Amino acid sequence: MKQIVFASNNPHKLRELRELAGADMAILSLDDIGCHDDIPETADTFEGNALLKARWVKERYGYDCFADDSGLEVDALGGEPGVRSARYAGEGHDSAANNAKLLSRLSGTTDRRARFRTAIALLAGNDEPRFFNGSVEGEILTEAHGEGGFGYDPLFRPLGWAKTFAEATPDEKNAVSHRGNAVRLLMDFLSQQPWQ
Ligand code: IMP
Repeated sequence: MKQIVFASNNPHKLRELRELAGADMAILSLDDIGCHDDIPETADTFEGNALLKARWVKERYGYDCFADDSGLEVDALGGEPGVRSARYAGEGHDSAANNAKLLSRLSGTTDRRARFRTAIALLAGNDEPRFFNGSVEGEILTEAHGEGGFGYDPLFRPLGWAKTFAEATPDEKNAVSHRGNAVRLLMDFLSQQPWQ
């Protein structure tokens, strides 16, 4: 069976990917290959950070690997928080602090357009890196709605929706989300590879 490492230990992402991959492909986590490294994410693009993580695993552990990097881009803030989404309010701060900072930076702003973006980098065999990108357009509300999801979900309402990601079921979110879209492109590609 084809084995590939997903450079993550996030149980939600791993479960989602294993469901999408089906029975023909084994998706290994970083724990599964004994990698407990603090992999640097120092690039200034999502693609760059995804590639850093995938390269780290491929070069040090020898496995075919893919890695993802995601974040929120807000138009009125010139694309912030972008690659700094996880640490927008500073290292060690949580989602509540990040969301509070976002609301305060947007206070009085009528242009609330934003998107979530995901980049996945794949390193398989001796091939050049391949990238799979997903995004979802929406807007930032003026206050939080909903208890589900994580991160900026309570503030993000996808275009055409009457509720935020935090008010959606996981299936509703996955069907349109940045990560769902990128992962579906990756899985389509992998399922067509002869090396499977
Ligand atoms: P990661 O690269 O997927 O770990 O995402 C980095 C950061 O972007 C997260 O810590 C969140 O702040 C934000 N983010 C990414 N995806 C989502 C999402 O689906 N909902 C809410 N926030 C997200």
